[in-house]
Amino acid sequence: MFVPALLRKLLFPLAERLTRTRFWSYYADSLRYERWGGEEREALRNRRLSEVLNAALGSALHRQRLEEAGLTARLISPEESRSFLEGLRPVSKADFRRHFPTGVTTSQDAADWRYLSTAGTTDRMTVIADFVKRDQCRSSELHALRLLLGEDVGVSTVEIPPDACNVVCGLVDGSPPTFGRYAWHALRKGKLFGREARTELRGRFERQFVLRLLTLPPIAPAPSGPLAQTLGLYLDQIAQVRPAYLRGYPLYLMWLADSCRDRERTLKGLRVAAPFGGLASPAMAARIGAGLGARFGDKYGTSELGTVAASCGHSPGMHIFEDLFIIEAIRQGRPAEPGQVGRLVMTDLINTTMPLLRYDVGDVGRLYAGPCPCGRTTARLEVLGRVQEVLDSPAGNLTASDVADTFFADPAIANFRVEETTPRSFEAAVVARPGGHAPDLRAWQERFAALHTGVGKVRARLAPFVQPEPNGKYRFVFPAASAGDLL
Ligand SMILES: [Zn+2]
Repeated sequence: MFVPALLRKLLFPLAERLTRTRFWSYYADSLRYERWGGEEREALRNRRLSEVLNAALGSALHRQRLEEAGLTARLISPEESRSFLEGLRPVSKADFRRHFPTGVTTSQDAADWRYLSTAGTTDRMTVIADFVKRDQCRSSELHALRLLLGEDVGVSTVEIPPDACNVVCGLVDGSPPTFGRYAWHALRKGKLFGREARTELRGRFERQFVLRLLTLPPIAPAPSGPLAQTLGLYLDQIAQVRPAYLRGYPLYLMWLADSCRDRERTLKGLRVAAPFGGLASPAMAARIGAGLGARFGDKYGTSELGTVAASCGHSPGMHIFEDLFIIEAIRQGRPAEPGQVGRLVMTDLINTTMPLLRYDVGDVGRLYAGPCPCGRTTARLEVLGRVQEVLDSPAGNLTASDVADTFFADPAIANFRVEETTPRSFEAAVVARPGGHAPDLRAWQERFAALHTGVGKVRARLAPFVQPEPNGKYRFVFPAASAGDLL
């Protein structure tokens, strides 16, 4: 506990006095925000929103959108900012790509820019963030830890991202991986006080002391025998580190949890497992929690926005970081009812360099209002999968989460993909869990038919494994037509 206390009491405040780093103050501000009353909160959100809207007037794409919404050239006050936002049509990744970078950015001072990229393949998107946004991302990561574990600095963490680049790009340049060794290496080369060394040292310091983070490579798809072996090796590595917090691509977490259970292993010290870069349906979350002997703590964020929401564990959904984002669920352009599924559109209240105003992030979910037993009164968000995976059915729109639960309710199923070959005809590839009994395919068909209520032909076959998308993530559902238009 000595190092976290040192960081908290001495190093972070000192860093704020000596450099322009502000993440520690931002984090304190965010915790304070949660205790404020409704009026005070609304005032802060409106002030931030008007700043982003006014900055957005400096970019061609947003100026055009704002003019469409009835704005003539003038500044927007905090009081009227919300109604202007609601008048804006949502903007897609394709819109941003078409106008990137000059049409979507607001300042020509590129010295301070950093590029935050999503891992998508067809819908890849790059966002530019300035120093303030980057520090807010650091702050919201600490805020998520506070919600998930009740702690923030120096929580021992193991992460297993789905994308190899997350791991490889930062670590293969051949320079020493630890803070101390890198400092020595830079000193000997006479580069200790250069800009590059400062950035490298900052990154290593953050990983090693603030986040205490070990990153493991993605788990490659493989038939059951080799996969079982790989999972054993991962469990050995995790057990050695004894993390309190494990975050990983949800399917990996489920496989590790199942494997833990089969081997009757316990991961000592592990308290919370959280998703990294993908969806965990309720059945997956239950298997992860039970197998790992830890709470499954949901968390949502994207590389272009940062961490957006995290679960306190006391009620469904994740508390939205409302001081940083406005999140709406919309159906055909109108707000969805509370609890009703809609497309998620995000407004980033911090990024003034490349404003994201009603940005259609490509996910579906629902919002819950009202107080939570934990005492927080911020709105909560439940994310249910990608828009492109939504199936149209007589029972309504089915999300990837709904469909995944029909599979993962059977503990013998480790993975699947289901394709709607023609409307209401389905073909499913089902992967059995290593070392388990055979999945009951007929029982799955019954569960799926009961959910969908209008299926024609359904075929299911066993497959040794399914391939992930090029970004390392698995896509579960391939609808015949895009039901996303219905939302
Ligand atoms: Zn709560």
